[in-house]
Amino acid sequence: MKEKLYTIPIQDAFAQDCECPVCAMYQKLEDNAIHYTIGPGASYMEEDIRAQTDEQGFCQKHLKDLYAYPNKIGLAMMLKTHMDKTIKELEKAAEAPLPGPNSMFKKNAKPSSPVIDFIEKQEKKCFVCGYITQTFESYMMTIFYLYEREEDFRQQFAQSKGFCTSHYKSLFCLAPKYLNKKYLEPFLRKLNEIYLENFKRVRDDVEWFICKNDYRYQEEPWKNARDSLQRALTKTGSIIVQEEG
Ligand SMILES: [Zn+2]
Ligand SMILES: [Zn+2]
Repeated sequence: MKEKLYTIPIQDAFAQDCECPVCAMYQKLEDNAIHYTIGPGASYMEEDIRAQTDEQGFCQKHLKDLYAYPNKIGLAMMLKTHMDKTIKELEKAAEAPLPGPNSMFKKNAKPSSPVIDFIEKQEKKCFVCGYITQTFESYMMTIFYLYEREEDFRQQFAQSKGFCTSHYKSLFCLAPKYLNKKYLEPFLRKLNEIYLENFKRVRDDVEWFICKNDYRYQEEPWKNARDSLQRALTKTGSIIVQEEG
């Protein structure tokens, strides 16, 4: 299979033994994004990057990842100026008229206030998520690019262990946008087939895992059940559990 610089991450992910190559791609991007945000390059010391982290902040998942990274002072500096910005915006928003009590007929209506508007917008933003999203979209496009052009890739796709439910949806949604008439239908048929076939395989492994915890099955072999729970986390929740130990 021909390799171009931009096809390598996709080909690498599909060559891995995992329950969702898209999750594998995403995780690599996420590691890179965390490294970029808080790693030795100290991107947070650059004014334009800092303006973005001040404005966007970080989602819950990525705050935990940044906190786990051994650069507490870097995180402290980013959070300090992000908090400055938040205080400034919310002080302004809190000056607006306060909401009154809900009327009888609209008991569950959300009060209208710039305070709520600001926080709701803020909750959707994350510098790390934004950084990942740009590249992730081009990775998804490259999957379709390879599918149309490389017979080897089509075979690799067909022989893969399927996808997590969320990335099954992404591939299903994006295929009509990026694949031509000749390949769209066979792609979607194959996608459905490998998703379900492999989802059932992991479901069966989990079933055997449950059996193995029953004394009546103690003498039976484990088959593929030992790590079935980790693999079920990937299939159902797009989570790749790192090996323990
Ligand atoms: Zn996935
Ligand atoms: Zn995030």
